[in-house]
Amino acid sequence: MANFINVILPIPLERLFTYSITSEEAGLLKPGMRVAVPFGKSKIYTGLVYSIHQDPPQAYEAKEIHQLLDDYPIVHDTQLKHWEWIASYYMCTLGEVVRSALPSAFLLESETLVLRNTAYEIDENDLLDDEFLVFEALQHQSVLKVQEVSAIVERKNILPVLERLLAKKVIVLKEEVYEQYKPKLVRYVRLGSQYTTDEKLEALLHTLNRAPKQSQVVLTLFQLQGSTGKPIKVSELEKSSNTSKAIIKSLVDKAILEEYYIKTDRVNYDGGTEHVDSKALNEYQEQALLDIKASFQEDKVTLLKGVTSSGKTEVYVKLLEECLEKGLQALYLLPEIALTTQLISRLQEYFGDKIAIYHSKYNVQERVEVWQNVLQGKPKAQLVIGARSAMFLPFGKLGLVVVDEEHEGSFKQFDPAPRYHARDAAIVLGLMHKANVLLGSATPSIESYFNAQSHKYGYAEITRRYGNVLMPDMELVDIKEATRKKRMKGHFSEQLFVGIDETLNEGGQIILFQNRRGFAPLLECLTCGHTPQCPNCDVSLTYHQYRNQLRCHYCGHHTALPESCFACGSPELDTKGFGTEQIEKEVSALFPSAKVGRMDLDTTRGKHGYEKIITAFEQQELDILVGTQMLTKGLDFRNVSLVGVMNADSLLNFPDYRAHERTYQLLTQVSGRAGRTKKRGKVLIQTYNPYHQILKQVTTGDYENMYAEQLYERGQFKYPPICRIIKVTFKHKNYNVINEAADWFAGALRSNFGGTVLGPEYPPVARIRNQYLKHIIVKVHSGESLARTKANIRRIETSFKAVSMYRSVRVIYNVDHI
Ligand code: ADP
Ligand code: ZN
Ligand code: ZN
Repeated sequence: MANFINVILPIPLERLFTYSITSEEAGLLKPGMRVAVPFGKSKIYTGLVYSIHQDPPQAYEAKEIHQLLDDYPIVHDTQLKHWEWIASYYMCTLGEVVRSALPSAFLLESETLVLRNTAYEIDENDLLDDEFLVFEALQHQSVLKVQEVSAIVERKNILPVLERLLAKKVIVLKEEVYEQYKPKLVRYVRLGSQYTTDEKLEALLHTLNRAPKQSQVVLTLFQLQGSTGKPIKVSELEKSSNTSKAIIKSLVDKAILEEYYIKTDRVNYDGGTEHVDSKALNEYQEQALLDIKASFQEDKVTLLKGVTSSGKTEVYVKLLEECLEKGLQALYLLPEIALTTQLISRLQEYFGDKIAIYHSKYNVQERVEVWQNVLQGKPKAQLVIGARSAMFLPFGKLGLVVVDEEHEGSFKQFDPAPRYHARDAAIVLGLMHKANVLLGSATPSIESYFNAQSHKYGYAEITRRYGNVLMPDMELVDIKEATRKKRMKGHFSEQLFVGIDETLNEGGQIILFQNRRGFAPLLECLTCGHTPQCPNCDVSLTYHQYRNQLRCHYCGHHTALPESCFACGSPELDTKGFGTEQIEKEVSALFPSAKVGRMDLDTTRGKHGYEKIITAFEQQELDILVGTQMLTKGLDFRNVSLVGVMNADSLLNFPDYRAHERTYQLLTQVSGRAGRTKKRGKVLIQTYNPYHQILKQVTTGDYENMYAEQLYERGQFKYPPICRIIKVTFKHKNYNVINEAADWFAGALRSNFGGTVLGPEYPPVARIRNQYLKHIIVKVHSGESLARTKANIRRIETSFKAVSMYRSVRVIYNVDHI
C-alpha cells in the first residue's frame, strides 16, 4: 500500500502538501519531524510532517521526498495545535507560523544563502568528506545558495550536511551575518603591575604626598581589593573614594592605575555568579502571592497589578521556584527591549544555569541549542526567559507562564504574519498545557484589567513600593504660560532647568524623556498646544502633506489645512515637533559640564547598542540620559533622582484610540525610574495642558479613574475591549486598482456583515516602496461571533480573488490590531 505524508511548508499558501514516502520511511516518520522536499520546478524546502496516511492526493501526483532530516520529532503535538490556533485566530497560514516559530537553521531551503564563518579557524581534519566538499566550495565563492552548493558537490541531499556545518561553526547563514554576538563589557580598574608589592606601594603613596586626592584613590582601591578580593569597577572606585572621573583618568594616564574590561556574558552562564536565596517577601508581596495562588487554584489566568518598584519580580521568582521544584518548565516573557542584562543577571543569581535566554536577535546556533535543550527537557533550559518568539519553543511540561509588562504594545507582532499578540497567544499556550498563567504590570492594559474586573481573570495587587520607598513626587509644569511669556530656555522650563541643576549638584542622575513621534505628523498650535481631533473617532487628525489636508486615518474624515488654530485662533501652527537629538543638544549647551547620553532607535542600532548605553548610565559614566520609550522598560537605575518629561502633549495627541491609555502607561513607567531608593524621586512633566484628565490621573496615580474613563470612551466609540478589531490592508502598485479593490471589498463587507465597517482609508503613509496601501477596519461587536465574521471575510476574499483585476492585490489581515 502506498504511503503519504502531509507536510507544512514555510510559505504563505493555505494548504498542506502531500508527498509520497516509502514504507521504510513510513516506519520512521512521525508528525513534527522535518523532511527535505522538492517544490515547483527546482526548489527544495524543509517541511514539517503534519500527518502520515495512505490517501493519495486527488489533484496532483505526489512527489517523493528527498530525505528525512530528523531522527525524532523536533516539534510536539501541543505545539502544532497551538500553531494551528494562531493560524486560525490571526488569519494566516500554518506555514507562516512555522516560518516564524522555527529557528532559521531548521528551515534551510534551496534559496538560503550560506557563507564561510570567518570568525572560526577550521581544522580540515575535523570535517567529514561531504562536509569538506562544501567547505572547499565556499573557498572559491564567498556566498552560495544552497541550490548552488548542491550542484557543485553533485548531491541533492545537502541539507543535513549544511546543518552539521552550521553546528561545527564552519558556515553561517547570510541573514544573521550582522548579528554576531558581542559580549557586554564593564570597565574595571586595578593597581599598575609595578606597584603590587608593599614597598613599591608605600613608595608610591609617598610620591603622591602632595596630591592628597590621588593618594586617597589609591588607598581606597587598595582597601577595596583587600576586603573583597573581587575586581573593582571604575564606578565603584569613584564612589567609594569620593573622587571624580578626571582624577582616576590622570592616575590611569600615569600608569599608576590600569583599566581593563571583563566580559559579562549574558548567553552562556558561566557558573560564576554565586547562588543567592530568593528574598523573603514583605507582607504586601506575601498577600499578592497568596491571592495569585488562590486564583491559580481556580485555574484562572491572573493579573498582578503592582506599582513600579513594588517587587513584582520577587513575586514571580517565588512562583518560578515552585514550578521548577515540581520539575516543570517555566516561560517568562518580556518585551524585547526589557530583556536587559540587569534583569537577567538578577534572575541568574536565583536560578543559575537553569535559565535559558531566547531572543530573535540571538544567532542561529544559540537558538538551536536552546530549542534542543527545551525539547529534551534539560535542566539547563528549565526556565526560559525570552521575547515573544520564546513561546514557540518545544515545551513538554510547561507549568507556569509569566508575561511581564503585559500592557506593552510590542507584544503584538506587526509584520510579517503571523500578526499575533504574544500575551494572548501565551495565554492559549498556557491553557493547552494546563499551566498557570500570570500577567504582570504596574499599568495593566485596559483589556486585561477589564478581564480581571469581569472575573474572567483572577486578580492580585501590590500598592506600595518595596521598602517604604515613596512614590516619586510628580509635578505638572505649564509650558503654555512660560512659552507665552518667553521664559523657556529652548524646550526647558525654568522648573526643569532648576531641577536639573540641583540634581547635578547633588550628584544625582537625570532621565529626560521625549517621545519619538510616529511618522504621521500632527498639527500642533505653538501657542496653546491644541491638536485638531476627529469628530467621529476620538483620535487626532494627521497632517497629509501631499493633499494639504488633515485626515482621520480610521474613518477617513478630512478637512482642509486650517489657517489658524481651532481653539485659540493663533496662526502659528506647526507640524514638525522636536526629537531626542534636539533635546540632547540643548541640554548639553545648558549644562556644559554634564555628560549627556542619548537612547533612541538611532543610537541603539545593532544588537548590543542599548546595552552599552544602559551600562554606561548604570556605571554613572553619564549624568543625563535623553531617550524615548526605550527608557521606560523595567530598568532599575539606583541613582536617578529626577525624571523630566519634555512634552506630554505629543503623547496625548497621538492619532490612535489608545493614545490616552498609552500616555498613562508611558508616563507612569518612566516616572517609575525615579527615586527607587530611600531618597524620594522627583518627576517634572512639561505640558501645554496641565488640566488634562490623563495627566492628573498620572500624577495622582489614579489608575482606577483612568480605566473607568477610558472604558467609557471605548464603549462610546466602539473600540476594544468592547469590540474586536480586524484590520484588512490592501497592497498594490496601481493606484486605481487599489481604490477599486478596496471599495469592492468594503462594499461586500457592508452588505454581508452586521458589525461596523470603516474605510477604506489610506494610512498616513499611503505608498511604501511603490506599493499603495489602503485599509478597512472591521469592528466586531460583542454578541457577534468573531469566528463567523472571519469566515465571512474569507468567503468575501474568495470571491474577490475571482475578479481577475484584483487577483494581484495583496490582502493582509491583522486581527486584534492595536
Ligand atoms: P518591580 O518589578 O515591581 O518594579 P522589583 O522587583 O524590581 O519591582 O523590586 C524593586 C526593588 O526592590 C529591587 O531592587 C528589589 O531587589 C527590591 N526588593 C523587592 N522585593 C524585595 C524583598 N522582598 N526583599 C528585598 N528586596 C526586595
Ligand atoms: Zn491654539
Ligand atoms: Zn475618524
